[in-house]
Amino acid sequence: MKNKLYIISVDALESQDIEILKTLPNFSYIMENGAVVTGVREVYPTLTNVNHVSIITGATPAVHGVFHNQHPYAPNADSNWNVIGFNWMWESSNIRCETLIDAAKKAGLKTCCCTWPSMGGTGGNVAEWNVAEIWPHLFPSVRESYAASCTPNAMERYYDKYVAPFDFSKSIDVDPFNVEIVCDMIENLNPDLLLHHIITLDAVRHKNGNNSEKVRLALARADGFIGKIIEASKRAGTFEETNFAIVGDHGQICVKEQFNINVELNKRGILGQKDGLITDYTAYSFSCGFSGLIIMKDGATEEDKNRVYRALVDIANEYPDKIERIFTQEEAAEEGLAGPFAFVVETVEGVSLGNALSGETVISVNSPDYHYYKSNHGYHPSKGPKTLFIACGPNIRQGARVNGVSIMQECPTFAEILGVTVKEAKLPPIDILK
Ligand SMILES: [Zn+2]
Repeated sequence: MKNKLYIISVDALESQDIEILKTLPNFSYIMENGAVVTGVREVYPTLTNVNHVSIITGATPAVHGVFHNQHPYAPNADSNWNVIGFNWMWESSNIRCETLIDAAKKAGLKTCCCTWPSMGGTGGNVAEWNVAEIWPHLFPSVRESYAASCTPNAMERYYDKYVAPFDFSKSIDVDPFNVEIVCDMIENLNPDLLLHHIITLDAVRHKNGNNSEKVRLALARADGFIGKIIEASKRAGTFEETNFAIVGDHGQICVKEQFNINVELNKRGILGQKDGLITDYTAYSFSCGFSGLIIMKDGATEEDKNRVYRALVDIANEYPDKIERIFTQEEAAEEGLAGPFAFVVETVEGVSLGNALSGETVISVNSPDYHYYKSNHGYHPSKGPKTLFIACGPNIRQGARVNGVSIMQECPTFAEILGVTVKEAKLPPIDILK
């Protein structure tokens, strides 16, 4: 029988967190008894859903189809449009290629998943037992939101017990009850493959800055959750046969200022706006944080595209300390990024790309007009603190230390542990296996 694999992602876990992790009981247990892989290079853009899908497909966004956390949309549809707006790519039907879950199911393995990004809905390519990650108010009630995104068996088994008692009007801190669901899955369903996503660290970094003292507390909290999962596997009697893999999806960079490129596109006649809402456009920018996707209007001609490109180059020339690079579609594809956009704008490090259509072009993070994150991601993976991957268990070589791999190599490593292959995972596994 193959050994088990539990993959736990700690959102925004960075290689440089290791010094803190060494002081925490469960992270340090895993590192001392297993492998530590630092310098894990993410895929572009360094966003949560994009990288979580690369972790389980081994593929680039151009191949797997999840190129952003959200489907881009212009602000005339919804005035709440911003970098953490709506229309998330929460459904697994956004994923266009085989995943580790698909491969495990095909091999007859028991699969469980709790809150892995882009794993909701009825796409069919979800775990046998699936509690999806979804905004609780996507549908009129929390129950309807969960019912739309979880498998019926998981909905029936977990909703009333763990989700219903939670008051979303007071808090959105879902990590504590999610870990209870994970432990319940381990003790009662005996999964061969289990995936789970812990989100708080990312939120703490966004709110307080990448290197805030609160990061230590968030890591200690994540350590406690991992401890609960390890204890559940001991109670289930499966600890000895289980590989525990802790992954991150990206780091963060502190924001110095925000650059509202749509304001400049407005000045150059590329888009029209009234009261901060789009009236008409040839193109607009949809922020990824430290980069942005340039979305063309439907039916845009080659001449429209050329005009937009000239405007973007003009903006980059006027603001060389804000815009680092304009990628054409072809150049973005070389970075493994493709989707319904014509260009990708990469900012200078520390310059966040805003979505605003009117007001100041540049807003300092210290200005009272700045209302967004202190720290963010979404930049090109050549930048920022790289993420981390640690693992221990019967298939992992104790003492393995590797630096500098692609996040896409995690999937073939996991596939080898489970004795399966994942179709688009074409990079070699990471050298940490026995
Ligand atoms: Zn993330």
